[in-house]
Amino acid sequence: MLGLQGKVAFVFGVASEDSIAWAICKSLAEAGVTLYLGYQKRFMSRVFQLKDKLPAIAGFYPLDVASDADTKEFFDSFSKENPGVKADILIHAIGFAPRECFDRPILFVDDDKINTAFTISANSLQRCLKFALPYLNPGSSTITLTYAASTRYVPSYGIMSMAKAALECWTRELACHLGPEGHRVNSISSGPIRTIAASGIPGFDNILDHVAENAPLRRNVTQSDVAGCTTWLASQLSAGVTGQCIHVDAGYSITMVPSSIMGE
Ligand code: NAD
Repeated sequence: MLGLQGKVAFVFGVASEDSIAWAICKSLAEAGVTLYLGYQKRFMSRVFQLKDKLPAIAGFYPLDVASDADTKEFFDSFSKENPGVKADILIHAIGFAPRECFDRPILFVDDDKINTAFTISANSLQRCLKFALPYLNPGSSTITLTYAASTRYVPSYGIMSMAKAALECWTRELACHLGPEGHRVNSISSGPIRTIAASGIPGFDNILDHVAENAPLRRNVTQSDVAGCTTWLASQLSAGVTGQCIHVDAGYSITMVPSSIMGE
């Protein structure tokens, strides 16, 4: 029913077994998708350990979205080893902001740190798609990961809130730009999940507790909750959906006043 058997995906953002992108790899593999991973060199040994756990991984190459040259390197390596192969799915599960973006009051964060957060966490969607396009089949589906701090205040998320807002804007703009050729671009706004990236956010455990207490489903989401929605967005079942931001957050984003005010 998903129609993903025999499809090919680029997956960017696996750093560990806890990565949301790793759950996405497992879900796509189960649906019959062949995977090509782009990994950051600093996580090389972890990714190499993981690759043997999933036979669907057909290749993995270094990727650093900080520059055009390093991003192009991934696609050069991919195309050299897999001539003629094209992908149907692109997973962009990449985020980073320098420590100072979280530690300093936003008023005093330096330009270069803000620029890094935006380059890696938002503008890299454009960069990845720019280089991926010659290797994407018509009707491809790109999925990126965002967070609800893009539209509502979350203490300590700071500069990343603005980067995620920009990422969601890129999603809409790229969906409109590539839509006439049949390509789709969507984002999933995930609830908080414990991962390497999340460990850098001050107060993250308190956010997890707060969401578990107050989300309509009274729990946090898991990597596999996000992976399930991603697989649907990658499939033809979502063929009419593009430019959207879909919340996979146990419903937390629809709430305003926490249930705890009722003393429950
Ligand atoms: P993670 O640490 O497992 O993944 C982050 C990934 O970004 C890593 O694989 C890392 O290598 C990659 N990355 C960082 N800088 C890069 C660069 N210069 N070039 C290439 N790759 C780079 O953490 P995660 O939580 O799975 O994060 C995946 C995405 O999900 C991120 O965009 C994150 O903001 C988003 N997200 C996470 C949560 C959460 O609570 N964990 C919630 C909402 C959204």
